[in-house]
Amino acid sequence: MGRFDVTVEFHSHSGADPRLAGGRLTIDISALAANYRLLRGLSGSARTAGVVKANAYGLGVETVVPALVAAGCEDFFVALPEEGIAVREIAPEARIFVLAGLFEAEAAPFYSNARLIPVLNTERDIAIWEAHCGVEGRALPCAIHVDTGMNRLGVRAERVLAYARENALTRALEPVLVMSHFACADEPMHPLNRRQIESFQRIRKAFEGIEASMANSAGIFLGKAAHFDLTRPGIALYGGQPVNGAAKPIRPVVTVEARVVQIRHAKAGESASYGAAAALRRDTTIAVTAVGYADGYHRAGSGAGVPLRAAIPQGAHGFAAGRRVPVLGRVTMDLTLFDVTDCGPDAVQPGDHIELFGPNIPIDEAAHAAGTIAYELLTSLGHRWQRHVVGTMEG
Ligand SMILES: *Cc1c(COP(=O)(O)O)cnc(C)c1O
Repeated sequence: MGRFDVTVEFHSHSGADPRLAGGRLTIDISALAANYRLLRGLSGSARTAGVVKANAYGLGVETVVPALVAAGCEDFFVALPEEGIAVREIAPEARIFVLAGLFEAEAAPFYSNARLIPVLNTERDIAIWEAHCGVEGRALPCAIHVDTGMNRLGVRAERVLAYARENALTRALEPVLVMSHFACADEPMHPLNRRQIESFQRIRKAFEGIEASMANSAGIFLGKAAHFDLTRPGIALYGGQPVNGAAKPIRPVVTVEARVVQIRHAKAGESASYGAAAALRRDTTIAVTAVGYADGYHRAGSGAGVPLRAAIPQGAHGFAAGRRVPVLGRVTMDLTLFDVTDCGPDAVQPGDHIELFGPNIPIDEAAHAAGTIAYELLTSLGHRWQRHVVGTMEG
């Protein structure tokens, strides 16, 4: 594939006309590809997949998957089979793993028809896939998920070792991957990390010749022992910091901005927004923006008047006219107020945009102010954004 510029501007199926939208969401596919290459480099000799579940963490598989394919990604993980079918239409050659496993026997043909690889999470999943292979008359590829301490999905390690001793899986199925998942990879010093790696090393030895995978974004930063054959980053591709309290050289990918629709001049002693929780101690210039919690800008990030402010005093900040500006009072469904007094008179005007997160306000900071994590912020961005894709796709 050659090198081509795709400073494409597109409107997703529900994306609004730029003249009519309350906010804009910009996805930088050059930064996405740079993050992929960084994570692949850090994964040593392991290959690196792209985790694109939940519509690529809310960014859109139609944008993210082609950019990752162009960057050399050949393996994708989704949560649900319908997400896998959507990725298959975009990436005809890719290996697509479905993490949720098989909900019921009737689901199995959807997997084989779209060449999706189910991640078998229970002995019941294994039995369903075995029966389906019988119906199709051939061993079909699958992944085996082993629980090593997360207690969410996966067959218990001792059961998987018993299967391996009896060669019970390789007789009827074609396992192409054994995988497990870290519970605490974002806390590098947590003792469970080492125990999970040791447990998974035993599993891997029992399945010689089959690839092994354990590391999510944070797991990649645990070092070589966590890499095995295939790493599975998600959040770090999209610009989230994978490891608690340790900034890694991840580039921001998503910029979210709210349109200023009105500038108000309020007097000291007045209050602003619902509940009158923002008591103005000085004459205040207020920028009213047309984005609110219905767009995924969480109400918990309000400057005042929500329970979270008792635990984390600082509410969310935007970025306008070269400086950080605090959210004023409660975030409402469709509108959010910012205190732009310190920007100076006339510095912020109707039609300007205030950054909610992006290059100036780290997504992890915006998430923290709302008592959540970047994953939830990205996956709750609503349908009203005017979406842009910028950057260069390199092949
Ligand atoms: C979501 C998920 C990942 C990716 O995790 P990040 O923390 O976003 O990198 C990897 N593996 C499994 C099993 C997952 O569910």
